[in-house]
Amino acid sequence: MAELADRFGRRFPYLRLSIIDACNFRCSYCLPEGYRAAGARPRWLELDEIARLLRAFARAGMRKVRITGGEPSLRRDLTDVLRIAATTPGVSTVAMTTNGSVLRRRLAEWHAAGLGALNVSVDSLDRARFHAITGRDGLDDILAAVDEATALGLRAVKLNAVLLRGVNDDELPAWLDWLRGRPVGLRFIELMQTGDNLDYFRRHHVRAEVLEARLQQAGWVLRPRAPDAGPAREYAHPDYAGRIGIIAPYSRDFCAGCNRLRVTSTGDLRLCLFGDAGISLRPLLQHDAQQDELFALLATQLGLKKAAHGLHQGDTGATPHLASVGG
Ligand code: SAM
Ligand code: SF4
Repeated sequence: MAELADRFGRRFPYLRLSIIDACNFRCSYCLPEGYRAAGARPRWLELDEIARLLRAFARAGMRKVRITGGEPSLRRDLTDVLRIAATTPGVSTVAMTTNGSVLRRRLAEWHAAGLGALNVSVDSLDRARFHAITGRDGLDDILAAVDEATALGLRAVKLNAVLLRGVNDDELPAWLDWLRGRPVGLRFIELMQTGDNLDYFRRHHVRAEVLEARLQQAGWVLRPRAPDAGPAREYAHPDYAGRIGIIAPYSRDFCAGCNRLRVTSTGDLRLCLFGDAGISLRPLLQHDAQQDELFALLATQLGLKKAAHGLHQGDTGATPHLASVGG
């Protein structure tokens, strides 16, 4: 294995692979009008393309792959995708991010296929608020499925909550109650500005540091970062089974710890979530014989990865919303 690094010495053990850009939710910060394909429905990566892609990334040092979207569970062949990922030589963790809409029905099947880590997006523990944010009235079912996932023994079960001023920023006490007895990681994500959500961002963005200060006051302690960890700053507390992670993309050192690459549902490599363009890997995913060429392309592209995103300058790159690139 030839582990690749970029100009800044960053390695990339972590790939986020979007397998679909469509979604059945209408999260107010992501797809408030619901999913609409721009033009003809995109041709999402096929299973054999995904298998070749993952083999090449594993050769470049990728150890953990997260399947995301859009909503990955809308793909009928999701279980096959998970199985392919779990059986790719070199891959030790298959993770997925989902809105949880079919989690209860499909969890056992996904787990059997090799899913080891699960993130479920739950922005509020209040049923009416959850409905207002997502356009779906399914909170109770999703939370029950999260408990089932924990009981099933997945390596990691996490909840993602986007922090939204005036919408859910008063819910810390409810979250803490929920975490007390559950070995679940809760990740608070600072709202990111995308090409489509500028007004919403201005109204609802709240700095994650505000919440972090409240956690520290309540006795939560920052834990050291693991090498293949995501971007979260992780907090623990002796009285709680659960952990809290803070994802603050606007914080100073966010990019220095970047260990991830992204591939969109149609096979474009994104060096940064907020990078300008994606180069298409798809032409090199058509035959097994192209693996060396694909690997060489990855090596060249990594050399182009920038030191940091331009979000502070309001530069959101080519990202209209996170469903388009896989958040
Ligand atoms: N549909 C799946 C879900 O919602 O979990 C997977 C894709 S979604 C784009 C991945 C994560 O990105 C979700 O946790 C979502 O809350 C988060 N997200 C989407 N738009 C965001 C934004 N503008 N700022 C911060 N997080 C965002
Ligand atoms: Fe769909 Fe996830 Fe975006 Fe919500 S955050 S609209 S569930 S892709």
